[in-house]
Amino acid sequence: MSKIGFIGLGLMGNPMAANLVKAGYVVAGFDLSAANLQKAGAAGVGIANTAADAVSNADVVVTMLPAGKDTLTVWGGGVMAAARPGTLFIDSSTIDVGSARSAHEIAAKAGMLSLDAPVSGGVGGAEAGTLTFMCGGAVAAFEKARPVLEAMGKRLVYCGDAGAGQAAKICNNMILGISMIGVCEAFALAEKLGLSHQALYDVASTSSGQCWSLTSYCPVPGPVPAAPSNRDYKPGFSSALMLKDLKLAQEAAASVGAVTPLGAEAAQIYGMHNAWGEGGADFSGIINLIRGKGN
Ligand code: NAD
Repeated sequence: MSKIGFIGLGLMGNPMAANLVKAGYVVAGFDLSAANLQKAGAAGVGIANTAADAVSNADVVVTMLPAGKDTLTVWGGGVMAAARPGTLFIDSSTIDVGSARSAHEIAAKAGMLSLDAPVSGGVGGAEAGTLTFMCGGAVAAFEKARPVLEAMGKRLVYCGDAGAGQAAKICNNMILGISMIGVCEAFALAEKLGLSHQALYDVASTSSGQCWSLTSYCPVPGPVPAAPSNRDYKPGFSSALMLKDLKLAQEAAASVGAVTPLGAEAAQIYGMHNAWGEGGADFSGIINLIRGKGN
């Protein structure tokens, strides 16, 4: 069974590493936060003192870090020199496409295999081992990663060359941010027209307005009992992370000259939601901002 080095044991990385341990892998973990490292240790992850120590015996290394600069700091630090040639490096952080491609270049220069493999499914999916991985890189890297990713997720999608996983992630989340705002506007309008939440849901969920933001994550309580709207918008997927992903999408669009006016507007509206102090709330809580704007 392969040995895994795991760097970045936060909200997502901790349960992902724990699932690798449950699947029988020997995992060596490192995080800058002593508390997160300790939590991982309690789940059976071996505690390494440095990132280099975590990778020195590994066949596969997984990084789950906040942003592109963090991935480049870790991949561009001592880990490439410490790892055995041919080690597979997987970055599951959500980062900009340019940094993802730079990370692949760092790995290739050091004689390593690499994959960008951001996830969807959130903390709940990380805990349940049901994440979706969107993967970019060489097919050989994807095939080597498969059993490791399957221990943490239920769906793997090969998206193409280096950076394609990150491109898929931000395009998907741009759809999600825009569609959630659309669904919230429809409910806010329905309220003013005297139409009940359930009536709008019953029509739109079986008509052309149907979408994931409505049927899985309905932003008003009632129609979809598992949605965060039923628990005062406790995340779930936070508004701060939605804003992060929408900004990444806008940066990517600017870098290639793509025209994304609704993506830009969604980034602005989520920016307001965060400035309103709601960054820690679920992203479907944007309905409260939208109702406020209409008053
Ligand atoms: P987090 O802030 O909880 O965890 C990040 C961890 O990385 C922290 O424990 C931090 O100490 C550690 N870290 C930072 N720099 C480091 C370094 N140089 N060396 C070692 N450790 C370092 O974040 P998270 O919620 O776990 O998210 C991780 C990534 O997953 C992000 O890119 C995020 O956008 C993405 N993501 C998160 C969710 C979610 O619901 N939380 C969903 C999908 C994708």
